[in-house]
Amino acid sequence: MATTIGAVSHWYSQLPLPRTALPGDRDADVCIVGAGLTGLWTAYYLKQADPALRIVVAEARFAGFGASGRNGGWLSGLAPGHRGVLAQQHGKDAVVEWQRTLDTAVDEVIDVAQREGIDADIVKGGTLRVARNRAQEQRLQASVKEDLAWGSEGIELLSASETAQRVQVDGIVAGSFNPHCARVQPAKLVRGLADLVERLGVRIYEQTPVTSISPGRARTPFGVVRASAVLRATEGFTARLPGLRRRWLPMNSAMIATEPLSADQWDAIGWQGFETLGDCAHGFFYAQRTADGRIAIGGRAVPYRFASRIDRDGAVGEGTVSYLTEVLNSALPQTSGVPIAHGWCGVLGVPRDWSAGVSLDPATGLGEAGGYVGHGVAGANLAGRTLADLVLKRSTPLTELPWVGHQSKAWEPEPLRWIGVRGMYSAYKLADRQEAKGRSSTSPIARIADRIARKP
Ligand SMILES: Cc1cc2nc3c(=O)[nH]c(=O)nc-3n(C[C@H](O)[C@H](O)[C@H](O)COP(=O)(O)OP(=O)(O)OC[C@H]3O[C@@H](n4cnc5c(N)ncnc54)[C@H](O)[C@@H]3O)c2cc1C
Repeated sequence: MATTIGAVSHWYSQLPLPRTALPGDRDADVCIVGAGLTGLWTAYYLKQADPALRIVVAEARFAGFGASGRNGGWLSGLAPGHRGVLAQQHGKDAVVEWQRTLDTAVDEVIDVAQREGIDADIVKGGTLRVARNRAQEQRLQASVKEDLAWGSEGIELLSASETAQRVQVDGIVAGSFNPHCARVQPAKLVRGLADLVERLGVRIYEQTPVTSISPGRARTPFGVVRASAVLRATEGFTARLPGLRRRWLPMNSAMIATEPLSADQWDAIGWQGFETLGDCAHGFFYAQRTADGRIAIGGRAVPYRFASRIDRDGAVGEGTVSYLTEVLNSALPQTSGVPIAHGWCGVLGVPRDWSAGVSLDPATGLGEAGGYVGHGVAGANLAGRTLADLVLKRSTPLTELPWVGHQSKAWEPEPLRWIGVRGMYSAYKLADRQEAKGRSSTSPIARIADRIARKP
């Protein structure tokens, strides 16, 4: 069976017919650039607060074309930022509040989906993380301690046998369970949300790339949208906009989805709880059991393309599919020989300090949200609610959260950026190999790479 490559992602069995493009100049109260989860959640909460608002969303391709329609489907409370850095600036209590609000964003998305009739195959089964060697176990223990200290509740360490009772991953040394996560089908979520906001009266123009943003204006080849608030929700694509080349690094993440597994294979694996599943390697994997009995698994195969170049409709090379298949077969040898149905990739936004931000400049009306470093599915919901409050000039607990107004410095110019990111991921590969050979603690190579990259 041939593996489908690209075609945006496995989550689309068929690519949607695009909505019409902007038919000419338009006036609106709010213009949102980008119809991913950030843009659409912002539109949703603005309409909830004030149904009379005239909102235009301009989308280069179609709603859900970006990471929102390609991701691993972890709707999780994992922090899209460096909690330590934010605590230095805003104090520990503010960060604890942020973490708690992120955890509750998981339920907010589930509640809205239920209330509004969005069927996105959602199962709140939590996240299972596995450690497969001693160094990973040490990191796992430290991260559980840290998550609890930052206010996340209900996270527990599991023994090897408790972990294996959930999912029979090969070589488990220990595990952890975090209840603040649900499995979702990403394209169903983002497309359902687009249809919902359209029903609420938001105008979504697809096939409409915004070529420049300035106070009160978003320019496109088909006309100008004039609005007192113009909000940029272009995450991993941001570097393509004028003046923003070094703003957020477009980090590439790739995935494969298997053909459906047989009942015997599922019996051998377990995974009855539909937890999202990941490991603690530096080049970690993330996975989900899909509603139709496949495994979708992702990792950083080619982490970054020179000069912030972006994939073509999710296309990946054969090497990426082979690499992810090896990762899958190594963690779950029960899948050996299962055909791979689809391989694809996408970009997510990484700020230089690995910390997302939500902001609106009241003087210019320009706003933005993103840079979620791979934790944007729930993060975008919280960002959307927050941007809506900022646009409406409402002072709320959300607008007090420490990521509001957070700005990170620019990435280094090329070729330093490319050398740095490639060097970091080569170092992680080496460190993972050393740790697999039996090191009892994190490899110093990875520690140095983390420090240089300023990763949390
Ligand atoms: C493979 C992969 C796996 C991931 N897995 C997870 C996960 O399991 N859990 C998690 O929390 N996060 C995950 N992420 C990250 C998460 O998907 C993103 O952080 C989140 O979806 C970002 O949403 P967004 O709306 O900000 O950006 P996007 O979804 O990327 O949307 C941006 C939109 O803007 C449009 N656009 C760009 N430029 C322009 C322009 N000039 N004019 C008009 N429109 C424009 C794009 O076409 C796109 O539709 C993953 C990301 C990838 C790539």
